[in-house]
Amino acid sequence: MYRRKFIFISALTALMIIGFMATSLTSYFVARDSLSRNISEQMLPLTSDNIYSEIQRDLLRPILISSVMATDTFVRDWALSGEEDSLRIIAYLTEIQQQYDTITAFYVSETTRQYYHPTGVIKTVSEHDADDAWYFRVSTMRQPFEVNVDTDTADRSRVSIFINYRVLDYNGRYIGATGVGLSVAAVTGLIDTYQQRYNRSIYFVDRQGNVTLTGSNDERHNRLQEQPGVSQVATQILSSPSASLNYTAVNGHSMFLNSRLVPEFDWYLIVEQDSSGGEARINNTLTLNLLLSAAIMALVLVIAHFTLRSYQKRLEDMATKDRLTGVANRHLFEMIFDHLTRNTQRYPRPISLISIDIDHFKQVNDTHGHQAGDLVLQGISTLIKQHIRESDTICRWGGEEFVLLLDNCPIEDAMLRAERIREAMRKHSIAFGKTSIKVTLSMGVTDYRQGEALEMFLARADAALYEAKENGRDCIVQAD
Ligand code: GH3
Ligand code: MG
Ligand code: MG
Repeated sequence: MYRRKFIFISALTALMIIGFMATSLTSYFVARDSLSRNISEQMLPLTSDNIYSEIQRDLLRPILISSVMATDTFVRDWALSGEEDSLRIIAYLTEIQQQYDTITAFYVSETTRQYYHPTGVIKTVSEHDADDAWYFRVSTMRQPFEVNVDTDTADRSRVSIFINYRVLDYNGRYIGATGVGLSVAAVTGLIDTYQQRYNRSIYFVDRQGNVTLTGSNDERHNRLQEQPGVSQVATQILSSPSASLNYTAVNGHSMFLNSRLVPEFDWYLIVEQDSSGGEARINNTLTLNLLLSAAIMALVLVIAHFTLRSYQKRLEDMATKDRLTGVANRHLFEMIFDHLTRNTQRYPRPISLISIDIDHFKQVNDTHGHQAGDLVLQGISTLIKQHIRESDTICRWGGEEFVLLLDNCPIEDAMLRAERIREAMRKHSIAFGKTSIKVTLSMGVTDYRQGEALEMFLARADAALYEAKENGRDCIVQAD
């Protein structure tokens, strides 16, 4: 019985564990998969598109302004006619700077190598001055302009983004460089805004992988190839105009990265996202799912346990109790007797037995009907129970016969107890509809002799009971 219950509960537990694990883990992996797909196929490219268009709006303006300056007929005519009256170009540069709110505007002449600025001619560029390297690079480069992040010649304390545009005469010959500068702070501020708005890491690298621009709190290494984690995918980024990649960061988080070449700057815009926020949510959901499953499982097991237990108890009761009166049946009585007598071998003590039979019970059935007889049987068992101890056993031996097994009870005490029951029965009447039924009891009492079988013990009590019947009923006889 207990083994079966154990097998049933184990099988139920195993089935529930498999079921709950399967559903929880399936939804977990589906969620993870859709998260990474969502990030790499939608969120990142979208962010990248947005940032790209905003960068274009904010940074392409200075390129446009510089382009206008480089093709301005005034600038070219003034330069070609011998750079007379430098105040005119200075006024022009001042006007540009004020009009477009840039931090600087400049013109450097190829003929005189003079650096014109809204504040005047601030220097003559020289091939020997490292600070002027940019100018000689621009003077020989193939493309019409470059974007350069450098310290400002007019103010050495600040780093600026320069648009260096080549100025050509009407025959396409190089005559100088012009352009405007933006403060890096403004651009990093721009990146900060994007980073905050989209919660991503945003930065730029040039074609060699050098980090050119980052947000203000970014402590990135100078080269992409030297950044821990990203270095795994650096070559992939730098070898194609756009890429969607992922790599594992130093902290173990999986990172998603989107890169695209911004042709105007010849820089890569890189947008990175840590998937750990979404992952943490998914992990929490999994934990919650598993906890919930465990709770449901515990509940099901508790319900199963109590249901089985109540069925078990009912089966046990059916097997051991008398249906009509609820007292022990023969089977249970025999077990209790075995247990008790084995116990007395270790702890010797007196045990007594009272055999009880209802007098003229047949008449009760004949007069009032079988139902009344049943009621009398129930009434008698209740009355007997009121006169015995917890440790005593009452059994319905058959038909209208009861036996009482009294543990730790000498025969004299058993006689007294029997007498009390007999007396109580005489005074008691059982109500059946409008009539009340009175019955008497005859009893035989005996004590247990160490080692004897139940049959012997019972036979002696029955003999005494028979004697009581012979003596005219409603009396008690003690066996010899
Ligand atoms: P005595 O004083 O000699 O014991 O007479 P008696 O009538 O009690 O004895 P007898 O053995 O002749 O009759 C017992 C009756 O008990 C017969 C049977 O119908 C009735 N009986 C046995 N079991 C049940 C039961 O479960 N319900 C009812 N109502 N009657 C029962
Ligand atoms: Mg009888
Ligand atoms: Mg009888």
